[in-house]
Formats: sequence, structure tokens, C-alpha cells
Amino acid sequence: MEAEFLSWLKPRLFAAPHVTLGVGDDGAIVAAAPGTSTVVAVDLLTDGVDFRLSEVDPRRVGRKALAVNLSDLAAMAARPMAAFVSLALPRRGALELAQSLYEGLLPLAEQFACPIAGGDTNTWDGSLVVSVTVLGQVGPRGGWRRDGARGGDAIVATGQFGGSILGHHFDFEPRVALALDLAERYTVHAAIDISDGLALDLSRLAEASLCGAEVDLTAVPISEAAYRHCEEHPDHCTPLDHALGDGEDFELLLAMPVVEADRLRHDPAVDVPISILGRFVEGRGLWQITAAGHRPLPAQGFQHRGS
Ligand SMILES: [Mg+2]
Repeated sequence: MEAEFLSWLKPRLFAAPHVTLGVGDDGAIVAAAPGTSTVVAVDLLTDGVDFRLSEVDPRRVGRKALAVNLSDLAAMAARPMAAFVSLALPRRGALELAQSLYEGLLPLAEQFACPIAGGDTNTWDGSLVVSVTVLGQVGPRGGWRRDGARGGDAIVATGQFGGSILGHHFDFEPRVALALDLAERYTVHAAIDISDGLALDLSRLAEASLCGAEVDLTAVPISEAAYRHCEEHPDHCTPLDHALGDGEDFELLLAMPVVEADRLRHDPAVDVPISILGRFVEGRGLWQITAAGHRPLPAQGFQHRGS
């Protein structure tokens, strides 16, 4: 099956000058530009855990497997260089499934100029597992990290939050272009992409930076999907709860000096919604600022996945 799959795949791959040797040898050769560093990110998606193949078009799964990695590169302000795709396929219909996964993945790879430079494909008795590894490049100033926020920095978020389960978690646009633009034109002290929930990933960034965070809950941008999710599944959760706790928004959370955050919010060249959610503070913990006062904010979210 693998030989047949590779002969299907090879004509569909595109080249890039820095990938000196791509699919077909024992390994790939990727040329790094002088003075740069390479960021490596990996993500693993498993049928029954991260998606249900019985309910979703495998092309969307393939797209997502690459997109979550591109989001990690965005969080580090790294330019995508190459991706490596490993598939463990259920034996029945393996070839067709592999092709469908790639039909979703390849257009995104091309859109982000991230060539597929290798990987591995096996069949087994289990369910589908997709693992993608990406390489990204950061310049001499280095990329963003989680541990650079300082007390007094603004908490800046891109996009809107909540209800991603209604479709956004498959169809989101990784914030790579925005991240590369901001890395060039703005001072960003720390960054993370929001994979497991706004409150949880904010707490991770704050903890890594040895500081706390105060969130103005009225400033949290709530997506239309969060409202729709509440209407369709009435429970005790509010749209704000979904915005704070749902995972897989794949937006960026940044720590920036307040003047830089204000400049960004009014930047006509940035077409992604930008919100200032509050500020990082000396001390530890996650706090909510409401009309009622200053209270702990639970770092809720999904914790079963890695970064
Ligand atoms: Mg991440």
C-alpha cells in the first residue's frame, strides 16, 4: 500500500529551494539560513480522542493535523519551513483514507509555503493516528516564548473565543502571517496559541513567566459560535464560560507593553480583531476584574492534549 500511496503522493508535492532533499530518501535535508534558529513542533491526533472519523470528512482531519502545528509555529513567530507527516492507518480502506487526509492537508501546506518533506505511513489493526512535525525558522532576534511576560504588560488576544466545536476547530486559519508581521513591527514579550482554552493557556503563559494575570471579563471577545452553542445545548454555561473554557480556538495570546498593545489595536494594517483583555501583574494567579470586584478566575479548559 505504501508504494502505491507514494506514487500517488509524489506528483502532488511541491518543492521549496531550502528543502534540498525531500520525500524519497532515508531522510530529508533542509537548509537553514545563517544566523537563524529552527523551531520544531509536533502534534498527535487520534481517532476517538481528537476527532471521530465516523462523523467527519477525513480531509478536514488532514487539514487540522497540519493547521495545529502551524498555529504552534505562529505562537513562536516562526516561519514554516517543512512538515513531516506520519500516518497509522486502519487496514481497511487505508489507501483511500491516506489520499483523503492529504487532499485536506496539501492545500494548506501550499497556502503556508510549508512543503511536506517526509514522513511515514503504516497500516495496523487500530484506529487512525495522524502525527505531524513541523520545522519553522526564527531570525537572529529569536522567536516568541511563553516565559517573557512582565508585570504591567497588556494581555492581548487575536480573534474571538468559544464554541469552536461547531466547526472552527477544523476550519481555523493559523495566525502565521499575523505573527510574522507583529514579530517584525512590534515588541512582544511572550506568546502562546490558545489550543486548550483561553483561561487555561493564559494561566500557562503567566506561570511560565512567573507572574499573574488580571482579566476584565467584559473585554473577552465572544464568538457567534459560543452564543449558538449555548442556544443549541442549553446547560448552566454562558457564552462567556465557553469563551473562557472551550479549547481549540487557535488564536494568539500575547504579552506586550501597554503602548504597543494600544498601537496594535488601532493598526489599520492588521485585519484580525485585536482585544486587550487586561494585564499581567506581579505575583501569581489568574484573577477576574468585574464590577463586583477582584476574584480568582478558574484556569478551566481541556487538559488532555499537549501544546
Ligand atoms: Mg501551542
